Amino acid sequence: MPQKTGYTSVVIVAGGSGSRMGRPKQMLPLAGKPVLVRTIEAFKQVPQVHQIVVVTPEENQTVLSRYFTDLTFTVPGATRMESVKNGVACISAAAEIVAVHDGARPLVSPQHIEDCVLAAQKYGAAVLAVAVKDTVKVGEDNFVQHTLDRSSLWAAQTPQAYRREVLLTALEKFGHDKAATDESQLVEKTGVKVRLVPSDYKNNKITTPEDLVFAEAMVEKQAVYRSGIGFDLHRLEPGRKLFIGGLEIPHGKGFLGHSDGDVVLHALCDAILGALCAGEIGILFPPTDPSIKGISSVSIVKKVLEIVRDHQAQLVHLDATIITEEPKIKPHYEAIRKSLACVFEMPLENISFKSKSHEHVGEIGRGEAAMCHAMATVKITK
Ligand code: MG
Repeated sequence: MPQKTGYTSVVIVAGGSGSRMGRPKQMLPLAGKPVLVRTIEAFKQVPQVHQIVVVTPEENQTVLSRYFTDLTFTVPGATRMESVKNGVACISAAAEIVAVHDGARPLVSPQHIEDCVLAAQKYGAAVLAVAVKDTVKVGEDNFVQHTLDRSSLWAAQTPQAYRREVLLTALEKFGHDKAATDESQLVEKTGVKVRLVPSDYKNNKITTPEDLVFAEAMVEKQAVYRSGIGFDLHRLEPGRKLFIGGLEIPHGKGFLGHSDGDVVLHALCDAILGALCAGEIGILFPPTDPSIKGISSVSIVKKVLEIVRDHQAQLVHLDATIITEEPKIKPHYEAIRKSLACVFEMPLENISFKSKSHEHVGEIGRGEAAMCHAMATVKITK
């Protein structure tokens, strides 16, 4: 059971113009998702967090609304501290703990967020921090004035969490300080002792291009690859349209099924669901449901792609083999691969498609049915 805290609101500040990165760094893609989306996902994993307020321009709010439905939004101010104040103005009346976090720190660990919130509850004020690794010099005109004692130096990160009244008092008394780069220094001026909560060096703020390379490597390191297999078989009946891999192929017969019977899409969808341990298409689209009678199998794929996104996964590779006596499939190989790339929203080079005859043996050999074996590989980057 997670340790309980009072109602906790988090203000995520993401108003930066990205002057060092060319465009706003918090919306740059990080392993397939905007940096800010990954930041918010870290807080979503913390049971002690009740409300997330995101301070960001309206165009970013529109993007975030595609990923989350329960965020509170407000727009940034002219300075970081103005943005924090805008965010704090939106916190719930019930909030007892308020945490402030940089939108450009996507790799913060949920455990460290929890540690920081619990420390704020206990001590009134807490910041995540790491011991400084470099020897730090104080310089003037490019000459060293003196060397600081490294053993007492900490680099402050975020989140920084406070009891509500501690932060509000500090913002009211010292929030006009334009030079302040974090809220802790305002709280320190009020005389409240701020607890240092050990974090890790992964919780880096993405500021310069190499920070993004580092973050990509960290996300990639945590990625998990999984594969799944799928199988399907449908009867071929005269007078029906034939769909293979989402492509209509002129032929006197088509697949008999509750949907259009596209064995290739069905087998691939089951392979993907297998890789995600997420059931099979017969559960998602029961053949007993009259409302989906005659649907295109492309709509089954669309539903499966939603499940892929819900699992924070990406399709890496698909491979399918159709076993049929007729029609001849080889002339359609490239058209079917292109159709699969379009339907599954994947690059063509990651899609394999092939066919086999059944050597005139049995029902498939007589052209009464066709079947498909498929394999899918997914990458899950939580
Ligand atoms: Mg089927």
